[in-house]
Amino acid sequence: MSIFFKKHHRQALLQTPFPEEWESIIQADVAYDKLLDDSERSHLRDLARIIIDEKHWEGCGGLEIDDRVKVVVASQAAVLLLGWEMDIFRNVRTFLIYPGAYHQTQENVGRDGMVNSGTVNLGEAWYNGPVVFSWKDALDSAHQPGRANNVVFHEMAHTIDMLTGQTNGTPPLRERDHYQQWNDVMTRHFQDIRRAYETGHRDVIRDYGVVNVAEFFAVCTETFFDAPVQFKKHRPELYAEFERFYGQDPAARFEAAGRTSGHH
Ligand SMILES: [Zn+2]
Repeated sequence: MSIFFKKHHRQALLQTPFPEEWESIIQADVAYDKLLDDSERSHLRDLARIIIDEKHWEGCGGLEIDDRVKVVVASQAAVLLLGWEMDIFRNVRTFLIYPGAYHQTQENVGRDGMVNSGTVNLGEAWYNGPVVFSWKDALDSAHQPGRANNVVFHEMAHTIDMLTGQTNGTPPLRERDHYQQWNDVMTRHFQDIRRAYETGHRDVIRDYGVVNVAEFFAVCTETFFDAPVQFKKHRPELYAEFERFYGQDPAARFEAAGRTSGHH
């Protein structure tokens, strides 16, 4: 689809009213929506419709894709886009959704971009390939924000990281002169957090984040959106890098909604 056609197609799509049935699904299942202000809510619905319309959705392991699956996944994915003008999900074409935790889709994959390995997965993201989720976990995340645990935020973060062509924890930053500071801050906190776990301490960034730099970016993204008050309090310098990159301040959002508690 040409960019010109795509733009007009989107405009036409957004001119029709948001489906009532989808609105009910958001109200019932997507708790994050209640943290947003009115303009963000309306933006979220536009973004979710575009994601639902432009991506290919495929049920696996007996799961049937219905509107609820699409709305719950797409509206959580859309949270990451609220502060961007650019289409940072442009490389994602297909969502594969399993009913629950599943055995990984392929084995022995090395260089060609599979991020999560192991025999049982809740989600995966592939370079120029599908994003895979467990529906049960995507729904749990939607029902319970505030736990620094959201499989949709996590896997979509990997796809953003991959926009540079490498999965190395550094997504395409907004300005050239942001890279130096990003690298300094990310490296310092990654090492500091890894040292903390090695010496038996805990951190606001859960231990899976220090497996490697790609997981660090994904887990920091989850924490940034899903436990932002704690993140900002314990690692303000690291939080500030994510705030600049995503163009949002979720801590202010949670504080305004009176949700300062949560895990960590
Ligand atoms: Zn991951």
